[in-house]
Amino acid sequence: MSSTTITITTSLKILASIWKNPGAMEVGNPYQNLVAVMLSARTRDEQVLKLLPAFFKAFPNPEKLARATVAEISKKICSIGMFRQKAGNLKRMAEEVVRWQGERGGEVNEVEKRQGERGGEVIPDNMEELVALPGVGRKTASVLLVTSFGKPAIAVDTHVQRVTNRLGWVKTKTPEKTEGALLKKVPRQWHKTVNRVLVKHGRYICISKPRCWACPVREMCKYSRKNLVAPKNATKILEDIKRREAILESLRQKAI
Ligand code: SF4
Repeated sequence: MSSTTITITTSLKILASIWKNPGAMEVGNPYQNLVAVMLSARTRDEQVLKLLPAFFKAFPNPEKLARATVAEISKKICSIGMFRQKAGNLKRMAEEVVRWQGERGGEVNEVEKRQGERGGEVIPDNMEELVALPGVGRKTASVLLVTSFGKPAIAVDTHVQRVTNRLGWVKTKTPEKTEGALLKKVPRQWHKTVNRVLVKHGRYICISKPRCWACPVREMCKYSRKNLVAPKNATKILEDIKRREAILESLRQKAI
């Protein structure tokens, strides 16, 4: 094992021991997780989690969502940004899933068994078919593969992009390049952990002006402009982080 691989796995182990909660958009079955992740694009997780219970009451499966009008879907998600565009994407995604379900024929039992869901709630469980769904890019598909199907994948959002470059795991400018580099450098059994822990680390500690003074992996980080001096209100900041994460987890549990 190379020294970089050892550093990466050690850092991931440490971060995973701190950030234990599931990802904020892990809210239920594969259909529900897909809807949550699609809604979360450029939107605060808290806002998405708050609207999910009413959304899933109205549209409990792809079939109901496909039959709704864009206006009806928009009404349920109008508290978040880009809601009209997201409503259109959700409807088209659901129509495509219903079409896909209709075409599965003999595979139906196998897919249902793998996903542990009833037929009406199953969605494609591989990268190729997921990215073919309207409104679903590689990042969304990767999150789904990990959270819903237990498959190794690395979703790169702005947090993962920033943190992995600062840590020195990659030296990349785009999420696509970062994903490719991470897939090669991170041992396969750790792929599922990367997004979950780095999103939380990036949200609370490795923020734009990083809180290196509170960072549990600072000894292994290559960032040249570390912010190591704790501010006077450090205790309050750390308490606030715990409070915010507890609120997020409580909202996630209520959304299930
Ligand atoms: S030491 Fe600072 S820059 Fe490096 S990962 Fe930690 S918070 Fe981010």
